[in-house]
Amino acid sequence: MEGKMPVFLEKHDQELMRKKNRMLVFNSIQQHHPISRTDIARLSGMSAATVGRVVADLIELGLVKETDQISGGVGRKATMLELNLESIMTVGIEVDRNLTKVALVDLSGRIIVENQQLIDQNEKQLDNLIDAIVRLVAEMAAEQGIPHSKFIGAGVGLPGIIDSEQGVVVFSAQLGWRNVPFAERLEARLNMPVVLDNDLKVKALGESSFRSLDVIPAETVENITALVSIGSGLGAALIMNQKIYRGSRNIAGEIGHSIIDPNGKLCECGKRGCLQTYITDLALLQEANQIREVSSLQELFRYMEQGEPWAKSIIDRACSYIAITINNVVCTYNPNSIILTGKFIEEHPGMFEAVNLKLQEFIGEHFSGSFEMFRSKLGERSVMIGAAKLVLQQQIDYGLVHKS
Ligand SMILES: [Zn+2]
Repeated sequence: MEGKMPVFLEKHDQELMRKKNRMLVFNSIQQHHPISRTDIARLSGMSAATVGRVVADLIELGLVKETDQISGGVGRKATMLELNLESIMTVGIEVDRNLTKVALVDLSGRIIVENQQLIDQNEKQLDNLIDAIVRLVAEMAAEQGIPHSKFIGAGVGLPGIIDSEQGVVVFSAQLGWRNVPFAERLEARLNMPVVLDNDLKVKALGESSFRSLDVIPAETVENITALVSIGSGLGAALIMNQKIYRGSRNIAGEIGHSIIDPNGKLCECGKRGCLQTYITDLALLQEANQIREVSSLQELFRYMEQGEPWAKSIIDRACSYIAITINNVVCTYNPNSIILTGKFIEEHPGMFEAVNLKLQEFIGEHFSGSFEMFRSKLGERSVMIGAAKLVLQQQIDYGLVHKS
């Protein structure tokens, strides 16, 4: 019987490889269409035979179509591949403490139309929130003339610990939810499949799928993107070979609760000295308020620009902690690229560079050339686009829904 085990493993590996290849080929068509099979093979490092097989799958799924075009400057006719933009539509949703954003996203990852709704305390009630989402989707679909049958699903990114397999919000401090079966509830009302995940994880998925092939050489064995976000919370997310890396309970990346001082400040998680007690906006404002009344990060930045030494010192220390965080992520995961994002980085044009400078101090010489660091490319839309991408990924992995 011993011989059976490896056969099973092999099959499992093949399945994983097939999914990985599909996503890789789809991403290269998404980024470079129209593109020939030969160019996909060159970009992805796959054999021509594998590319041919995967492309046939994607055509079968209705996601890709062939088109005759002149390729390159040679003037030779080649069969090119295009996205089948007419075939499907997805919904990308971001639910946050005060705001819910909804977008209709096409196969290329482009937002066709978007809308948002402020959520007051009352609307945090599940039914009201779901009503708002259903209404926004229906309004936008009607306005764009998109029939319901075209929608293959909706993806939702929200803050907190999410059981993505069951579609349950296990715990969200920001929303005040515990064990909420959000996917099931929304699915029943939207009448389409719904997938859920943590907002940073879908953000990372969105950002990475629009840049991976630009920066990662085909021969790279593992393609790892790490997203580090500093704002009202502190977190990270990893994309490995096109997929969200979740760990066993989907909490991989919760670096905000890594402990750096057992005698430090009390954290919302009940432990002392968590990293996030030093660098979230709340922590910085608390510190600032010991000197002067400061009510927002913007105001703190203003004091720094006016040359106030205390403001400079608070921000300088935050930059050091962020650089240390990045160093720790690099040591642990050895990513090819890091996307640095969040309010602290995005609300002041100088912070990205300030952290970059600090990195020279905190990153070991053997690690410093191992990754490139980027700003967010999709900005405020990244969660919606990433959530829509999650839906598409399910479609590509499992061929769940219809094809037209
Ligand atoms: Zn904590």
